[in-house]
Amino acid sequence: MTVRVRFAPSPTGYLHIGGARTALYNYLFAKSKGGTYILRIEDTDLERSKKEYEELQIADLKWLGIEHNEGPDVGGPYGPYRQSERLPIYKTHAEKLIEKGHAYYCFCTPEELEAKKEIAVRESRVPQYDGKCRNIKFEEAQNRISSGGPASIRFKAPHKAYVFMDGVRDRVVFPEGMVGDFVIMRSNGLPVYNYCCVIDDWLMKITHVIRAEEHLPNTLRQLMLYEAFEVRPPEFAHVSLLIGKDRQKLSKRHGATSVAQYKEESYLPEAMCNYLCLLGWSHPGEVDIFKKTDLVGVFGIERFQKAAAMFDLEKLQWVNGQHIKAMNAQELILKAKEFIPTDSPFHRQSVEWQEKCLDLFKSQIHFFKDFETHIAEIFSREVVENEKLVEINSWETTPQIRQYLKEEIKKLKDSGVTFVNELQINQWTEHIKGELKIKGKPLFMGMRGVLTGRDHGPELKFLIPLTPIEILADRI
Ligand code: GLU
Repeated sequence: MTVRVRFAPSPTGYLHIGGARTALYNYLFAKSKGGTYILRIEDTDLERSKKEYEELQIADLKWLGIEHNEGPDVGGPYGPYRQSERLPIYKTHAEKLIEKGHAYYCFCTPEELEAKKEIAVRESRVPQYDGKCRNIKFEEAQNRISSGGPASIRFKAPHKAYVFMDGVRDRVVFPEGMVGDFVIMRSNGLPVYNYCCVIDDWLMKITHVIRAEEHLPNTLRQLMLYEAFEVRPPEFAHVSLLIGKDRQKLSKRHGATSVAQYKEESYLPEAMCNYLCLLGWSHPGEVDIFKKTDLVGVFGIERFQKAAAMFDLEKLQWVNGQHIKAMNAQELILKAKEFIPTDSPFHRQSVEWQEKCLDLFKSQIHFFKDFETHIAEIFSREVVENEKLVEINSWETTPQIRQYLKEEIKKLKDSGVTFVNELQINQWTEHIKGELKIKGKPLFMGMRGVLTGRDHGPELKFLIPLTPIEILADRI
């Protein structure tokens, strides 16, 4: 069996991180099984669906590197892939259900249905269709339709329990009587989600449906429809709910929920995928940091977790930082440059300098835009006189170090040196140790205080060679 999976967003808004996670799981599953990943646009809610949203969602998926093999923009053998373009298919199959006695035309008006619903609620009954049109003869129904009577098509829900094995939830039982006869085609000719989803999953030969847990109740209606069509349903896997730190369903209240917002905030697409993947799935090697390509052959349904997954922004930031840390200097230059302001002195330095600089700070940041803070410090003439620095300056050894380094730096500067190298720093250290007899903390902290004007920072042997000598001179 060739695996065929789909992501089926409704283009009624931006790509939500929950949607991105579903897309990612389907994509990874297809990749791992040598299967096909399909993008299907579920746009039968004509009022809320917008072409712009479809385009934006596709762009965001592309940014994440979740590219589909079949879809509305790339085509494929089972198209069209936009539900609004498949209306005749839904109509034909609904008529077949009527012919086979599994569905019927319903002439109840919305007002009538609403009134019955209110009575049911008042009497503490679960509102279910009472079957009023179930027994209208086909010919009579045809006549009413020809004389202009608006009719929906309703599916005859069988009175029995349904059981299926879910890839995440294991055995799921829907007891008898949970749903009454339900509409599959509205009187305006548009299909409802549960119905067109089944038609499409069947005709597009979908083998596995991996989707969010909130769709679990829909599976009951879908199983009924598969049975009526005498079609074997796909394997289902309903992935755990995404929740915020307050354990409530993830929503705008918890902060940014659209992929686009994270893209704007300069998160890395690979880091986003990495983090989203961990929200409900775990790596068999207990690995936390990985790329999509690392998961080929590793990703499978068996490692989905049942418990709700908590979205934790701090963890996402950490994951982003880990991906930055794992980059080599060339990759960093390529990707980070655009996040460093154009007027930053960074851009006036040699490529070698730029590589060393990014490499030095990459493990201290979560975002590319944070590089600039460190770069600005390198070029700052300011001395940060906090309590610690005042203490360092009060030691009797510090003025000796300052005097010595001042002369050394002046000599080098006068001879045309623009940057000192690591060797030079070692020589200074040896001199201070051997001639000035200063060792340990007074030596290292003293040198740091004098050269950087700060009480902490990266290793001097890496930081000082990046600092222009005139800046060192000014600070001293
Ligand atoms: N259009 C549905 C949604 O956006 C898809 C549900 C499904 O995957 O079956 O939630």
